[in-house]
Amino acid sequence: MKKCKNCSYPFSWGDVFGSNISGFKAIRCKNCKTENSPDSIYKIAVILLDVGPLLLFGFVPAYVPIALIVSVLFISPFFAKYELGDKKM
Ligand SMILES: [Zn+2]
Repeated sequence: MKKCKNCSYPFSWGDVFGSNISGFKAIRCKNCKTENSPDSIYKIAVILLDVGPLLLFGFVPAYVPIALIVSVLFISPFFAKYELGDKKM
């Protein structure tokens, strides 16, 4: 799982998932209080993977795109990349 860029304190899957579904909010490390912002390439990849299946609606049974979107949401925390973010949003 992902670690804090500053002190290597591990983030839980739930921390990353929560960040993703709240619009890629920076994760504040519980140990050193540093903000870790999702890497922009990672954000774009997750958005594309979530939007892509929407294009399938109408061509395949509705559960197919829904299942794809849900899988992306659940699996993407494992591929998350972070950069140190000091900018407050
Ligand atoms: Zn830290």
